[in-house]
Amino acid sequence: MQKVADLHVHTNVSDSTFSPEKVVRYARMQRLDAIAITDHDTCAAIAPAIITAKDAGVEIIPGVELTAEIDDDEIHILGYFIDWQDSLFTKKLEELCRARKERAKEILRRLNGQGIDLKYEDLLEIAGSNSDSLGRLHIANLLYKKGKVSCVKEAFTKYIGNNSPAYVKKFKLSPKEAVDIIKDAGGVSVLAHPKTINTEIKPLKDILKILINDGIQGIEVYHSDHNTRDSNEFKKLAEEYGLLITGGSDCHGLGKKEVLLGKVKVPYELVEKLRSASRLKI
Ligand code: AMP
Ligand code: FE
Ligand code: FE
Ligand code: ZN
Repeated sequence: MQKVADLHVHTNVSDSTFSPEKVVRYARMQRLDAIAITDHDTCAAIAPAIITAKDAGVEIIPGVELTAEIDDDEIHILGYFIDWQDSLFTKKLEELCRARKERAKEILRRLNGQGIDLKYEDLLEIAGSNSDSLGRLHIANLLYKKGKVSCVKEAFTKYIGNNSPAYVKKFKLSPKEAVDIIKDAGGVSVLAHPKTINTEIKPLKDILKILINDGIQGIEVYHSDHNTRDSNEFKKLAEEYGLLITGGSDCHGLGKKEVLLGKVKVPYELVEKLRSASRLKI
């Protein structure tokens, strides 16, 4: 049977509810041969995932998901086959996680200003002792748990979504900085979920040209938020611009409406292409 991979998976060291061990066991259940662990701004799940994966027979591709900004709009950049133990790389990620903590505190201050009393300690409890990388999904889940909203989505539309009253911008890298962090750690950089990018000011083609100039090497063609038409469009762009193709579920455990792990499966040959483009070729 053809080997398959899910190249976009979060764990509870960032904003998924699944531990690295649970992610690996779930991946095995979904008959995935390989998964890329791509937590926001942290690689803390990779070591425990590799340990469990040895027994489960799942290959772990060391990855990360960084946030960058073009014209005030957020884009996400995935890094694959990174030397995740590299000391300079680790230091950069620590800085990003520190900035996330400060931002989360500021969001809570704003919510408190609106009469919604949430404590930082409660947020840490929701995020779990494992969590390195605090994000809005944790705050959304806290708002839900405290009965302030009827669902996670409402937390974003009412309070913490972009342009909502308690929204605070995240410290963001420039695309070139994000690509360079990944490149310096030997990895391959890929534009994540292009469907979610705001293309009102700049069309996707123009954004892609900037990113390619900055050294981006691939585009996430397959993703849970992409329908077949979207994926076809992104595949055409990948071919036009000579970009590597990736795909993944962007599973956040139970943090999103459903468990997405294994809902997007890509042929293993895409993994081989990523590996060849990386410095380590591990
Ligand atoms: P952050 O990195 O802290 O800005 O948070 C981003 C996280 O929030 C990602 O996991 C997104 O999928 C999630 N998110 C952003 N906007 C929404 C929304 N409108 N509804 C549900 N989740 C969202
Ligand atoms: Fe996330
Ligand atoms: Fe993302
Ligand atoms: Zn993601």
